[in-house]
Amino acid sequence: MNRRNFLSCAVLTPLFANQLMADDNDIYLSKEEWQILVSLNERLIRVKRHVGFANFNLISYNDTLFYARNYYRIGAFTKKELELMDKLFQEDQNQYGFYGAKTCADINNQIADKDVEKIPYTGHFLFKGKAEEDYESLKKDVGNTLILTSGVRNVMKQLSLYVNKIYNCRGNITKASKSIAPPAYSYHTISDFDVGRKGWGYKNFTADFASTYEFNKMIQLDYIGMRYNMNNSDGVRFEPWHVEVI
Ligand SMILES: [Zn+2]
Repeated sequence: MNRRNFLSCAVLTPLFANQLMADDNDIYLSKEEWQILVSLNERLIRVKRHVGFANFNLISYNDTLFYARNYYRIGAFTKKELELMDKLFQEDQNQYGFYGAKTCADINNQIADKDVEKIPYTGHFLFKGKAEEDYESLKKDVGNTLILTSGVRNVMKQLSLYVNKIYNCRGNITKASKSIAPPAYSYHTISDFDVGRKGWGYKNFTADFASTYEFNKMIQLDYIGMRYNMNNSDGVRFEPWHVEVI
């Protein structure tokens, strides 16, 4: 880590220990972009609060701007916030060590209600067809301790997760890109979903999930794939919870 980054991390972060894992070549937001990201992150949280957790998975970019403009509790996005969202959506991700395929070319991608099914008690949706069928089959073959932890995520949901991850990585975009797909690159926008073990909470999103009965049963099934195996070529961390719809 160079001196400038070292100092800015030391000042900014309570997660300082985390930063020690950062690489010299990691790319950070500029100081100005960091300020914009902080306000963008807060505004997106207000949008989520306004539309509700489940709906926030589906709403489009234009819907989001509409709510922000019309509800004073959210407040309209500033020009700089819009520019930053556009940058995070459009930019080439290879520079950050992310090599996955683009799954969505339109920041204003629409997901129609008729194409998704809400899964009771989860706050999440699955695409009708193969994804929903796979989930039903998994419940049968693995058992009821297997739960849906994240399903369909339109661009805005993915963007908000990405922004929040960059925030928690204190502006280190390289590090953020390794633990969450950038907004134009998520398979949650077109097919995939995440599962976990009932009662396991945040541990469902750690490598520990690979030690569960649910995971070990699941990987024996041939109708699903594992999108992000260890050392995958996309440059994403090992995600045993992420089911690839094949
Ligand atoms: Zn996932």
